[in-house]
Amino acid sequence: MSGTATAEATTTTPDRGVRLDHWIDGESRAPLAGRYAPGIDPSTGKANGQIAHGTSEDVDAAVAAAAAAADGWRRMASAERGRLLHALSVAIRQNRDVLERLERADTGKTAASARSEVENSAQYFEFYSGLVNLPVGDVLDVAPDQHVFTRREPFGIVGVITPWNLPLNQAARAIAPALVAGNVIVAKPAEATSSTTVELAKLATEVGFPPGVINVVLGRGSEVGMAIVGHPEVRKVAFTGSVDVGRTIGHVAADRIIPLTLELGGKSANIVFEDADLTFAASEAVRGFTMNSGQVCSAGTRLLVQRSIYDEFLAEVARITGALRRGEDVGPMITEKQFSQVKDYFKIAEEDGARLLVGGADAPGEESEGFFVSPTVYADVDNRMRIAQEEIFGPVLVAIPFDSEEDAVRIANDSDYGLIGSVWSRDISRALRVADRIEAGQVFVNVWNTGAVQTPFGGHKHSGYGREKGIEAINHYSHLKTVIVKI
Ligand code: NAP
Ligand code: MG
Repeated sequence: MSGTATAEATTTTPDRGVRLDHWIDGESRAPLAGRYAPGIDPSTGKANGQIAHGTSEDVDAAVAAAAAAADGWRRMASAERGRLLHALSVAIRQNRDVLERLERADTGKTAASARSEVENSAQYFEFYSGLVNLPVGDVLDVAPDQHVFTRREPFGIVGVITPWNLPLNQAARAIAPALVAGNVIVAKPAEATSSTTVELAKLATEVGFPPGVINVVLGRGSEVGMAIVGHPEVRKVAFTGSVDVGRTIGHVAADRIIPLTLELGGKSANIVFEDADLTFAASEAVRGFTMNSGQVCSAGTRLLVQRSIYDEFLAEVARITGALRRGEDVGPMITEKQFSQVKDYFKIAEEDGARLLVGGADAPGEESEGFFVSPTVYADVDNRMRIAQEEIFGPVLVAIPFDSEEDAVRIANDSDYGLIGSVWSRDISRALRVADRIEAGQVFVNVWNTGAVQTPFGGHKHSGYGREKGIEAINHYSHLKTVIVKI
């Protein structure tokens, strides 16, 4: 899905709109080859601005700047590094109007979505700023004449490649712990949604981060992204995106023998038992699949409902979904490619014989401007149908009935993915039994995705490996050295 919202790059210098350049070595840098690609506003489908179309030469420049900054950053007093991260969290909040405006222009997301994304990004820097002394080691009792200790060390230059759905949030999620562990960064946001990652690097420079600690190179994944992953001086890559691209990057990382964090897709199950608080469960089920218009890897897109309450519960879910307002509660698809992909799934659902409850291709307003689709719920879905197995990445929910606890667990785990899940029941023993058996990196009980920065997050199966967020992420941005001293 690369280059989704940008047309072919031009070789001429553009003369209209805002021009977005790389951020390298503490300054804005035009692409060395001089090429730009047009950006598209998803809420109108019209062109807005120009985005630097980088090449591997720009990646070389960013890696050189990062390499020059690496030692100074790693050896800076930890409290000083922490102060800088904290200053960046303050700057994000102070500049939240600018960041929200940029994020909305790139993605078309609702004001509320942009606000929570920017706040969440500030929280990453805030949380990790206090953890600068956490990459700790142990003293090991090996022999009386030896002093043996371990210490965590940074990898050096970390490549951060992020998708278009929560651009600032995903950049912050990877960059903050990587910096705390003592690494320097070369980031590449999705070309269509580059603005806020550049703005983040600019704010970092303004609050005093040394030049070269955070670099951002813009351009296509196949060109700039690949150049980062393949660069001999990049020692670790954190990738958030699709399974296909994750696999491609995984091959390169395997050849280079470098560690990788893969945060990929999901088809997460929301399991509702008959004894749950059904009012709250229904509203959370709707939030779970419509948040960010369903363009969230951890969206709750499979709703598993106990048969005894199936009709009643789905009626409530359909009612809440039908009342959502276009543009206010639910934004457009961020790219045109994503828009057509969701539309294709409406056809697939019909062919598969799923029962449409609300939304779909013929919902009112479907012909309006921009890449909007109506939040859609399908009932009587068989978990083997394509709409139950494939990640649609839009506001589309499939509802599947189940009879027993055993049945619910089997259906939930019958998926290539395993990112998150939730269980709804007032019987806490049952909830914990089910939580234990769900194959996913996070499981929620009686609530949907709370998104807290403190909670380790990542996948099972095709949803990826490694963990972001929480204290745990620091271990994925550092490696352990053992020092053995004869005394
Ligand atoms: P994508 O196509 O995989 O792109 C992700 C990033 O990788 C973009 O910056 C893209 O650049 C770049 N890229 C593309 N091809 C590349 C290559 N050959 N080498 C290196 N980099 C390359 O994913 P997307 O379409 O943007 O995002 C949607 C997917 O991301 C969904 O599957 C979703 O589930 C997943 N996602 C996962 C999480 C998570 O935390 N688990 C969070 C959000 C999204 P360009 O697009 O600029 O070419
Ligand atoms: Mg893509």
